[in-house]
Amino acid sequence: MADDHAAHAMGCYGSYRNTTPNLDRIAAEGMRLDNCFCTNSICTPSRAAILTGMYPHANGVITFNAPPSNHVTFPQMLRNSGYHTAMIGKWHLGCEPTGFDHWNVLPRQGRYHDPKFIDNGVETRIEGYVTDIITDLTLDALQNRPRDRPFCVLSHHKAPHDMWESDDKHAAMFADADIPEPTTLFDDYASRATAVRQSTQTIGATRPGHTLYEAETGHIEDSVARRKAQYQEYMKRYLRCVASIDDNVGRILDYLDENGLADNTIIIYTSDQGFFLGEHGWYDKRFMYEESLRMPFVARFPGGIQPGISDDHIILNTDFAATLLDYAGLKPAPGMQGQSFRGILAGEEPGSWREIMYYRYYRSHFNTPSHWGVRTKRYKYIYYNLSMEHELYDLTQDSSEIRNVYGDPGYKDVRRHLRSEVKRLQDELGDTDDSYQGEVRAWELLSQPHDPIFGL
Ligand code: CA
Repeated sequence: MADDHAAHAMGCYGSYRNTTPNLDRIAAEGMRLDNCFCTNSICTPSRAAILTGMYPHANGVITFNAPPSNHVTFPQMLRNSGYHTAMIGKWHLGCEPTGFDHWNVLPRQGRYHDPKFIDNGVETRIEGYVTDIITDLTLDALQNRPRDRPFCVLSHHKAPHDMWESDDKHAAMFADADIPEPTTLFDDYASRATAVRQSTQTIGATRPGHTLYEAETGHIEDSVARRKAQYQEYMKRYLRCVASIDDNVGRILDYLDENGLADNTIIIYTSDQGFFLGEHGWYDKRFMYEESLRMPFVARFPGGIQPGISDDHIILNTDFAATLLDYAGLKPAPGMQGQSFRGILAGEEPGSWREIMYYRYYRSHFNTPSHWGVRTKRYKYIYYNLSMEHELYDLTQDSSEIRNVYGDPGYKDVRRHLRSEVKRLQDELGDTDDSYQGEVRAWELLSQPHDPIFGL
């Protein structure tokens, strides 16, 4: 798993910016999911949702720095059933890893160069570049595993999370390139909820070091030319980090091949959420718009996953736990809200499957407003609950989400249906927070002291 790697920065998802030959190999030899979505597009909540199979409101991890969840996780269950379990790399939950025979994780966000690690509770510093080191440690974990047990290894990269520091190998990559721009780099948000404009995740608009790039672009007086230059700078840094992930995933694939493990190992590559790569003028995530909502998900398992095809069923991060448990012959724990999509990966048409998904984001950094919403294959409805504004997008007509048609009389029945679906899904999932206590709690959590080792 990567941190903040958007699907549209992968070759197999049609990237027009970069190539990812090793990640594409998983897709070519396995399956690519085209409608895999997170239920809350930030790191910690998505990681907790993946581990517990539960929505943030149900497992308590609604935003950064939420206290550790005591709910059972899929690695714990695999371990209890005889699997050797290991967790390597970025953990980023406010507690020590649990459910693992072996863990070696970055404290907090972790550093790109010469990072500290917490090796089963003992702090060490390792020289080198974080993506290489996480891969080295993953290969060590595979090599040193007990040979008489099946294994589950979580190899979680820090990259390409900000501040996007490259290694030496990729430092000059894209140096002379002109990275193509998205069509919405200068979105004016004309038809949007006014709350959208309060977000400060706009390229060039926030803190130095994020995407302001004062040293590189400060001399450019024209605001349009400067944002274009900032976009170039941002993209080159981000894509260099992705290139290192791609190289390192290749090392894992080679190890599985060379050690006779490839045929009997399920390998998955995903990210905790998507990311804006200049779309709508933004970087970062949080919003329910496509680039942030969509998670990359490619999986290979010869004999168990159909090779070389894609699938568009609506899959959620809360489904991962049930699916992995299913492969191990285990039923989900009580309270897990996701469903196994093992059959979908096998190329079977499920008898019934969700036609709509529910999303909720609680305000935290970047002043990005709270919202919830639902998405079907065709439509997306978003409600900015604090400003009480509605948006509706017809994705088949408007895949870039620049025309909010909520007020269009032609969509009267659609909006009525989707609003009733919000209520139905909130009831079904237990998110009955009519007085917005989630927002209050998220705000409180941000101002509380963080765990010095495992906090934000
Ligand atoms: Ca993330």
